[in-house]
Amino acid sequence: MHLTEERQDMEDVEKSLNFIEHIIEDDLKNGYSNDELRFRFPPEPNGYLHIGHASSICLNFGLGLRYGAPVNLRFDDTNPAKEEKEYVDAIKRDVDWLGYNWKSERYASDYFQQLYDWAEELIVKGKAYVDSQTSEEIAEQKGTPTEPGTESPYRHRSVEENLTLFRGMKNGDFKEGEHVLRAKIDMESSNMLMRDPVMYRILHKPHHRTNTDWCIYPMYDWTHGESDYIEQVSHSLCTLEFLPHRELYNWFLDQLVSEDKLRPKQREFARRNLSHTVVSKRKLLRLVEENVVTGWDDPRMPTISGMRRKGYTPESIRNFAETIGIAKRENVVDVSLLDFHVRDHLNKIAPRVMAVLNPLKVVITNYPEDGEEWLDAENNPEDQSSGFRKVPFSRELYIEQEDFREQANRKFFRLKLGGEVRLKNGYIIKAESCTKDEDGNVIEVQCSYDTKSKSGSGTEESLRKVKGTLHWVSIKHAIQAEVRLYDRLFVDATPDAHKDQDFMEFVNPDSLEKVTGFMEPSLKDAKIGDRFQFQRLGYFNVDLDSKPEALVFNRTVTLRDTWAKLEQSC
Ligand code: ATP
Ligand code: MG
Repeated sequence: MHLTEERQDMEDVEKSLNFIEHIIEDDLKNGYSNDELRFRFPPEPNGYLHIGHASSICLNFGLGLRYGAPVNLRFDDTNPAKEEKEYVDAIKRDVDWLGYNWKSERYASDYFQQLYDWAEELIVKGKAYVDSQTSEEIAEQKGTPTEPGTESPYRHRSVEENLTLFRGMKNGDFKEGEHVLRAKIDMESSNMLMRDPVMYRILHKPHHRTNTDWCIYPMYDWTHGESDYIEQVSHSLCTLEFLPHRELYNWFLDQLVSEDKLRPKQREFARRNLSHTVVSKRKLLRLVEENVVTGWDDPRMPTISGMRRKGYTPESIRNFAETIGIAKRENVVDVSLLDFHVRDHLNKIAPRVMAVLNPLKVVITNYPEDGEEWLDAENNPEDQSSGFRKVPFSRELYIEQEDFREQANRKFFRLKLGGEVRLKNGYIIKAESCTKDEDGNVIEVQCSYDTKSKSGSGTEESLRKVKGTLHWVSIKHAIQAEVRLYDRLFVDATPDAHKDQDFMEFVNPDSLEKVTGFMEPSLKDAKIGDRFQFQRLGYFNVDLDSKPEALVFNRTVTLRDTWAKLEQSC
């Protein structure tokens, strides 16, 4: 026994299989053919997809790619009170943006008639009945995990009476809450979900697809497995909270599956949680409704649309999902791992530019008053094909305030009085003096430059090494743009894990800072979505709010993980 397990483990490691793939491989060995494999991603269109869904998308579509199997996009749209077309559209956009193609777009609502017909069959077989108690009464009779439930007084209604009432429910003869249809299973089951679960409830609400055709709606458990069966999904993968539902999933299938059809299997994996945020559509909706953020696609949101707007790439999200893989136990993945993947990809693809966000004026006193030259600047040292651009240099520049100190110790490699630095793509300058305002703040630094030190000019001086290199912009050529600097949306790593506190109490009040940035003029033609590295500052992209005459940039991610340092020093 041990040996076989070990062998199996070794095989898995070799093929780097996760435990779901392991299950599939076993099924392939034990009679399934590759052609029978079929998967689905089944979102409920009651909100926008988030990073947790990205894991599930990558899992299901990844399996599709690995086994050459079709993957359906199935909307689990059985609750018209919460679902909307807007969400359907957003979900399609997001899955598509992540780079996956679904075989077929399906809706649980496509199956309402079939589900209804099957429900009547269950009634006829004595496996379902109409209960006319209130939901409170039904709840009271459920029992507890250690005490059996109590049978409903309506449990033994005749088939005829059940059919008449159920048809009445369907035809709109009753008010909401007057009746429900329940499966007749076992009120003493140790699994509470098997205690005559509700299959249908009356809801006089129009549905975004079936409009007012139906006023009874099937419950999740009744719908999900049957939809899998209709679509002949071989492996129905869901998150761990559905583990106790598996017994019910199977019970419903037992009532229906015919010999010649494939019987879907439900298997569970752990929900993915990300630190410093919440991954639940319901909670994200609160952030939107209570105006903590500007919308579902606010760049601070862990939604796929928020991450897209913030400048994340589909590749980085897929790489992140692949790295964390899937697990059997829930845990919280640190958001810095996601940031790492975003940086890793942007480093390869984002052109480098110079922008100053916190400007301090520098005057090069030995540079001609009206002098101007255009320096060669490499677009991306990680990508030789990206070429060079020109950046203007002149007598008056901006550098970052934090890059200058009047006095500093030897470890400060930036500009200090009497010290030298290289201006990126340009010359070596030396700080000679500075001017201060009445409060003692430095408002201008006067420098001299080494006239022969221009980068790439081939002179001995151009190769001269100084410790620091600073980014800068020429004031008279700079364009101005709004720059949105985002921080984590929550100050706590697990905002929704506190028993006595609402997650909203942990919202970071400083999650957004807007500043005016000064940028090299090559950025004036930047288009919405374009991504850049602002050298030494981080990765940025052009926000949706941007206009040609009023550019807006988002900070996608800083160049380094500043939080890790902060947390270490605490
Ligand atoms: P939420 O609580 O955010 O609404 P949900 O599970 O109700 O999540 P669904 O639209 O039903 O959302 O989810 C679609 C699929 O995505 C399901 O298979 C679900 O199990 C999976 N999923 C949802 N959240 C996560 C997560 N955090 N990690 C991994 N998979 C997830
Ligand atoms: Mg849900």
